[in-house]
Amino acid sequence: MTPKKRATGRTSKKSARQSAAATNDLRTRLEVIARDLLWTWTPSAQALFAQIDPLQWEATKQSPLGVLGRVNPERFAALEADRGYLARVKAVEAERAAYYRAKTWHAREAKGARRRMQVAYLCSEYAVHESLQQYSGGLGVLAGDHLKSASDLGVPLVAVGLLYQHGYYIQEFDAKGATRVLYPRYEFGGLPIEDTGVDIAVPIGRRKVNVRVWKQQVGRVPIYLLDADRQGNRPEDRQLTEGLYKGEPDLRLRQQVLLGVGGILALEAVGESPTVFHLNEGHAAFASLERMRTAMQGGESFERALEQVKRSTVFTTHTPVPAGHDRYDPKDVWEYLRPTAAPLGLDAQSLADMGRVEPGDRSEQLCMTVLALRTAAHVNGVSALHGRVSREMWARVYPQATSVEEVPIGHITNGVHTRTWLSPAAGDVYERWLKPDWNAAGPDDDPWARAADIPDEELWALRRRLRSELVQFVRTRLRRQAMGRGADAVEAAIASEAFDRDVLTIGFARRFATYKRAPLIFRDPERLAAILDHAKRPVQLVFAGKAHPRDKAGQAYAQTIHEFTRDARFVGRVALIEEYDMQVGRALTSGCDVWLNNPIRPHEASGTSGMKPPLHGGINLSILDGWWPESYDGTNGWAIGDGKERDDQEAQDAADAEDLYRLLEKQVAPEFYRRDKDGLPRAWIARARASLTKVPRQFSTHRMVADYVRQAYWPAAGG
Ligand SMILES: *Cc1c(COP(=O)(O)O)cnc(C)c1O
Repeated sequence: MTPKKRATGRTSKKSARQSAAATNDLRTRLEVIARDLLWTWTPSAQALFAQIDPLQWEATKQSPLGVLGRVNPERFAALEADRGYLARVKAVEAERAAYYRAKTWHAREAKGARRRMQVAYLCSEYAVHESLQQYSGGLGVLAGDHLKSASDLGVPLVAVGLLYQHGYYIQEFDAKGATRVLYPRYEFGGLPIEDTGVDIAVPIGRRKVNVRVWKQQVGRVPIYLLDADRQGNRPEDRQLTEGLYKGEPDLRLRQQVLLGVGGILALEAVGESPTVFHLNEGHAAFASLERMRTAMQGGESFERALEQVKRSTVFTTHTPVPAGHDRYDPKDVWEYLRPTAAPLGLDAQSLADMGRVEPGDRSEQLCMTVLALRTAAHVNGVSALHGRVSREMWARVYPQATSVEEVPIGHITNGVHTRTWLSPAAGDVYERWLKPDWNAAGPDDDPWARAADIPDEELWALRRRLRSELVQFVRTRLRRQAMGRGADAVEAAIASEAFDRDVLTIGFARRFATYKRAPLIFRDPERLAAILDHAKRPVQLVFAGKAHPRDKAGQAYAQTIHEFTRDARFVGRVALIEEYDMQVGRALTSGCDVWLNNPIRPHEASGTSGMKPPLHGGINLSILDGWWPESYDGTNGWAIGDGKERDDQEAQDAADAEDLYRLLEKQVAPEFYRRDKDGLPRAWIARARASLTKVPRQFSTHRMVADYVRQAYWPAAGG
């Protein structure tokens, strides 16, 4: 039942820990389960820890080790004597053993060189669980879901990232709705991360930075995490892993040297020998230069080293927003990267040229995306539309391409890891109807087609149950937020009464980046108030989202929404939940009837939150941007706008808001409230079912990872 063994010095330590699992010591057995993040997508394992102490389970953001660390001795003694509990522990152990024993998809499909492939996945953030706050948003969620599917499918993959002392940040709103940015400091010892004891020295500029490598086990997939907060390092070097996307551009540049160059050094130090390197976003692009350095040290020419690196590098670009691509002053890059780049025979200008659209143009900075494009032969955007936009955007990097179609950038559309996002209540229903075993389905299977068999009554009962759970969640959170702000008992009581379990519920949760236009629906407050307060078909709205600490415009959006929650026209019908994280994400995407998405097209490269509600019979109401044009067929949701882009942003906002109101008034609300003699909204249920049967199969990370394997990893491995 051990995760796949690796040829490293640490295997023996791991075996020792694992064999302790064979003892009868309950605490040790629970710790073994807690330290393998497989529990994050195993509901039965989560239930074991929630049951120890439900209050601590919530207080620790659902952390198994947190609960184990706080449980009082009497309670624990009671569990040790509870035969029912012990039987459940045993069942979870058996489930875990079966997981590792099963023959995986990759083991079945891959032959020869393909089987020997080993992928290194480099990313600046990973969202594996809300109790490990090492992520800011969609990029991290995608990376975490990618690793979980790689584990399920048996794709040989190891990941590399940074270990941030205080993660991203904790968000609170003050009484006026201004964002308060809190930086907790995590004790790594209390987290499910193993100290490998391996140190590496990463050259950054004139200094070597001392870095400890930690390891987090995500099922079969390890994440190696770099920690520069070590004694002996200068304060400015210890800052390298202080926070995610925190600090000045200079720090960000040095972090990217750490991730790229340090990532490659770390893999070598822990004994991994990857054959394929996946740069997930341009942040890690310096990895290619470090790999070239190693190849040239082994006697290769610059050209051949570049050729080798390109052949074996996969690069995924994640945003069409120009500001989303890091650009640095060539002088600074040279300053920090010289120990890596000088052995390649490069100087400041020729290094910068590798990251310039027009080599030789001294007015251009070095762009991490361009550097990644020039050092990777397998490049993709994250939706069909984003692939097309990226080919246009980067056409000048490929002067040999005679038309935009020839630009060698493809697309692999994002997905979500089903088991991570599926609510247990929905899982119970699918257990009964999506037989045999929807959960064991491979990337080419379609268990969701069988959702056609779920009776209307049952699907609607599930929707009602999930909505009720959400209403409960909203009330609890609003009460907690009110108390946290020092609000009086009256306000806390109002929070307890907010929302209604039978009212059509629309959700909007995402990073509050301005292009996502969170407040668009409030453009005409009177018209919205009439929709929400309609006598026969009321609507309620729940929001959540974080803006980057420096993004004042995004924070102002959050404040605008906060103000509307207190506006007499909207009180009790509009809620803003603090601290958007994976737990809030799960609660909202499972409970909402409708998932609203109104970015400025084509700025949403893919988006993934909208792939989560369909797993629960939720329905998308979205601009035709990102992944949605690939799925929307008129029966499985609604499209806002006409799929065209206007140059005049004000006119675009007006047109999109108008179309959104029209849909809400004429289609969404009437369809939800049109009930037959059995009290069922048949047309609504048909749309929910179309959402359930059509979205989850295609937009899962199982499908996505299989696409990466077939279209990028195997070719990059020479198979
Ligand atoms: C799913 C998810 C995201 C990604 O959502 P987008 O649609 O890309 O905005 C971000 N954050 C959290 C917490 C999520 O659960």
